[in-house]
Amino acid sequence: MMTRNATRGFGASSRDANYRDNVRRLVGGGREKGYCAVAKCQHPEMELLHKCNTCKRYVHILCSMANNLQGEDDDHYCSRLCTR
Ligand SMILES: [Zn+2]
Ligand SMILES: [Zn+2]
Repeated sequence: MMTRNATRGFGASSRDANYRDNVRRLVGGGREKGYCAVAKCQHPEMELLHKCNTCKRYVHILCSMANNLQGEDDDHYCSRLCTR
């Protein structure tokens, strides 16, 4: 019993949800492409792999960076509102 708990706890983090989502998408036959939630998205040809940490809508890393919407670590946000 202890072992099972240890296994479940290992590696569990806030990223897990996103990770599972991405895997499901891959299995489902490809990732979505298109405009992300960033207002001035300029990369509709890019795959939507990452989500805004706050509202969970998809954001492109490039768009997030272009608008200075990156938080600490690997956090990305779609808008100023979500960075708070
Ligand atoms: Zn974008
Ligand atoms: Zn957001």
